[in-house]
Amino acid sequence: MQFENTLSFAQSLDEKDLLKDFREEFIIPVENGKEQIYFLGNSLGLQPKQTTTYIQRILDGWSKHGVESFFIGDDPWIDYHSHLTKAFSIIIGAKSSEITIMNNLTVNLHLMMVSFYRPQGKRNKIICEGKAFPSDQYMFESHIKHHGLNPDDVLIEINPRAGEHCLRTEDILQVIEKHKDELALILFGGINYYTGQVMDMNAITSAGHRAGARVGFDLAHCAGNIPLQLHDWDVDFACWCNYKYLNAGPGAVGGAYVHERFHNDADINRFAGWWGYKKETRFKMDKGFQPITSAEGWQLSTPHMMLWAAVRSSMDIIGRAGWDTMQQKRKILNAYLWFVLDKINASQKEKQIEFITPGEEEQHGCQVSMLMLQKGKEVYDKLMSNGIYVDWREPNVIRLAPVPLYNTFEEVWKFGNTLHSILQGKI
Ligand SMILES: *Cc1c(COP(=O)(O)O)cnc(C)c1O
Repeated sequence: MQFENTLSFAQSLDEKDLLKDFREEFIIPVENGKEQIYFLGNSLGLQPKQTTTYIQRILDGWSKHGVESFFIGDDPWIDYHSHLTKAFSIIIGAKSSEITIMNNLTVNLHLMMVSFYRPQGKRNKIICEGKAFPSDQYMFESHIKHHGLNPDDVLIEINPRAGEHCLRTEDILQVIEKHKDELALILFGGINYYTGQVMDMNAITSAGHRAGARVGFDLAHCAGNIPLQLHDWDVDFACWCNYKYLNAGPGAVGGAYVHERFHNDADINRFAGWWGYKKETRFKMDKGFQPITSAEGWQLSTPHMMLWAAVRSSMDIIGRAGWDTMQQKRKILNAYLWFVLDKINASQKEKQIEFITPGEEEQHGCQVSMLMLQKGKEVYDKLMSNGIYVDWREPNVIRLAPVPLYNTFEEVWKFGNTLHSILQGKI
């Protein structure tokens, strides 16, 4: 499509937007009577208006029937999880039985490490991305120590080549090949949180399996952002959070995926709890753990009903919007953002912005990370004080992520226009 960097053109794209009515379903932050431009859906997605109702229904069930709400009422709590996994199967690209909604992301990563990191002799190494998200780094470090191993010996971090910002798949595959006799696990962010780069999860999984390793992904920045096919890619396990692109609120309950080939594996190690016990006989409360033969077998505790309700509300919106339609809009909204940013960069006498997110469409999702070559913090502060929510990552990066459900083309244009004025010193 031929884009134009004008307000009227942006508005014409909004007119044609199949998802334009969905913005109404979210609470947009307002300051001094003015709607803010919220480009932080990659950090904490906005609140759907209907989430209150979903949570209220749980509270109503609790007040009306107490614990019996698990089994009676219009929407018995005992079946609640199956509604969630059904909705997630499209977003994650997996069978419902391979998905479970529980805990938080870091907790789930630890649980998956118990099952999928099984160091044996010299086959004890883990390959991950350099500068992984801090929580993932601490998870690796503490988990490796828990096995009595030294993180410096075990962890192999892959970094971009000198002068580059992103990882090359060929480099990742080469490191896998090089360590193929000592590799226990490969665990990457499916999208790097800092650069916004999408990893080639399919290729990494195949290479990892050829090397005899387990392969998992942290999907914090993927889930609800880009299409995934975890089952077809044959990924062993994955975890994600539901408060970023999935709008289920701060500290929302997270998700985990376990490939079905492990569901009946009696030898798989895991930390168990009663909520992962076979449903038919769970309430006999017998000795000896017998897991549900699905990803639910990794559940530990009584479900977080109020938090599940927020996820259910989010899934309902995505169901009505349509995942494919969301993907179509994501691509064009993001392409428009890149177009506007390129125009700005080209109009500067000196280059002020270096994009560290790969420009190729299949290598990024909603997010664009801009390395500011000059006045970075000042630009960030001025964007924020002009009602544009973006985020700042040390030392010099501004990240922003317009999302298809509630952001508009007009907002993207306004952002570009404001950034241009800031860079020109007019604001
Ligand atoms: C956001 C994020 C987390 C956060 O983990 P929580 O346990 O949900 O706080 C972890 N890893 C990555 C890659 C993230 O982007």
